[in-house]
Amino acid sequence: MAIEKNAKSKGRNAAPRSEKLPAEPLHGSAICPVAKKCGGCQLQGISYKKQLEKKHQLVKECVGDMRVLPPIGMEHPLHYRNKVHAAFGRDRKGSVISGVYESGTHRIVPVEHCMIEDERADAIIATIRGLLRSFKIKTYDEDSGYGLLRHVMVRTAHATGEILVVLVLASPILPAKNNFVKALRAAHPEITSVVLNVNDRHTSMVLGERNILLYGKGYIEDELCGNRYRISPNSFYQVNAVQTKVLYEKAIEYANLTGKETVIDAYCGIGTIGMTAAAHAKQVIGVELNPHAVKDAIANAKRNACKNITFYNEDAGDYMRKLAAVPKEAREKVDVVFMDPPRSGSSETFLDAVALLSPERVVYISCDPHTLGRDLDALRKKGYRPKECQPVDMFPYTDDIENIVLLEKTGSREQKREGSAKKTVGRPEIERTGKRNESKRKSGDAQSGDRGYQKELRKVRAAAGSRRPQAAKPKSGKRTH
Ligand code: SAH
Repeated sequence: MAIEKNAKSKGRNAAPRSEKLPAEPLHGSAICPVAKKCGGCQLQGISYKKQLEKKHQLVKECVGDMRVLPPIGMEHPLHYRNKVHAAFGRDRKGSVISGVYESGTHRIVPVEHCMIEDERADAIIATIRGLLRSFKIKTYDEDSGYGLLRHVMVRTAHATGEILVVLVLASPILPAKNNFVKALRAAHPEITSVVLNVNDRHTSMVLGERNILLYGKGYIEDELCGNRYRISPNSFYQVNAVQTKVLYEKAIEYANLTGKETVIDAYCGIGTIGMTAAAHAKQVIGVELNPHAVKDAIANAKRNACKNITFYNEDAGDYMRKLAAVPKEAREKVDVVFMDPPRSGSSETFLDAVALLSPERVVYISCDPHTLGRDLDALRKKGYRPKECQPVDMFPYTDDIENIVLLEKTGSREQKREGSAKKTVGRPEIERTGKRNESKRKSGDAQSGDRGYQKELRKVRAAAGSRRPQAAKPKSGKRTH
């Protein structure tokens, strides 16, 4: 194994600011033996300091005219990924292999140890490879449709140490499932839950919509910024817990909350940003398309006794549009909007509605500087001035970078004109891809849990004493991760 191992690199330490990074980082020259085929770590072989510089440059090029602070990096930028997927298959000799798909193909590159994944997850996946033979479980063959095990997903909780193993099968029946789970737990007593996920579709999505509980609670719980969160298999959770804390603290700082504000947490996932903000605001509204995540968010609000938050299971753009259509005197003024859309960025509907709702501040959190730049240009035209951007390195060794941008309402026409004039100079136009609809289509039958959650939603609303904006009707979302 060519990857350098470092006992200190388990990611338990708080993230320092980039200026505290060692002059010549320890892992700059670590080269993974499958780096080329895997393609996941595009910045292999580049010192961590240089990686941050490259990312800083990229962000500056993408976001246009504003102050872009140097990225906040990690002190120990290895083994940070708390969500690990492995595809299962066989090599030419018929031996079971697991790993990642070779970039651009459906060929599996076997991976024993990955320098950015949680090491406990890698060890569990190795054990499962071994168990398949003794339990005579076949791996799934995409071409013939024959076989059972497609993927394994392992989620580890940074603060609590809980571990969820999700076995993704092509059918709901795992022969000798109790003994299989017993053997897995005997090898890894640290596992706190095992779920069988059924994915019987011809799809590139890892998870299907149906989960069958085999052991434990069916989710992990983690702690973040003073709250405890449940995270189910199909819900989004930031993959780097150490840096998420840094990210959220900065987002809350930018929001500049005094306790009097009405805040929207758009694309809220399991409610983490909203619940962190709720302690400093009058009320928070969370909007999220994925019904699994909304269920988690509602449970999380109860768990944290967070009474001033309400969740809507709806497309964020649709929700905002309907809210903006309610006459001003019939709704609360929205003071701050947090928005944290997927890579494809936000929709025109959403951005138009932001302008109509006219919050004082927008805090835009993004994992793609290109779509971020495009959406900032749209917001500039609508009278919002991007003031400052703080990149946070959530993805060392890859070319991804997370950014938080604070935008303030300018109100003045001159500033609006000035803002839009400066916008795209020298930067390529990024089109909206319509990915959102694509993933809605792909993710299948999310309806099943919907009715139950609607009931829960009403209960939480009642408990929170919050009223629903008149025009906003929740509908079922279909996005998964
Ligand atoms: N803010 C959360 C989640 C960010 S990831 C966090 O920090 O953990 C982006 C989230 O947007 C995902 O949960 C995804 O399900 C959700 N999403 C994607 N498209 C959406 C849409 N059109 N409307 C609302 N939510 C959407």
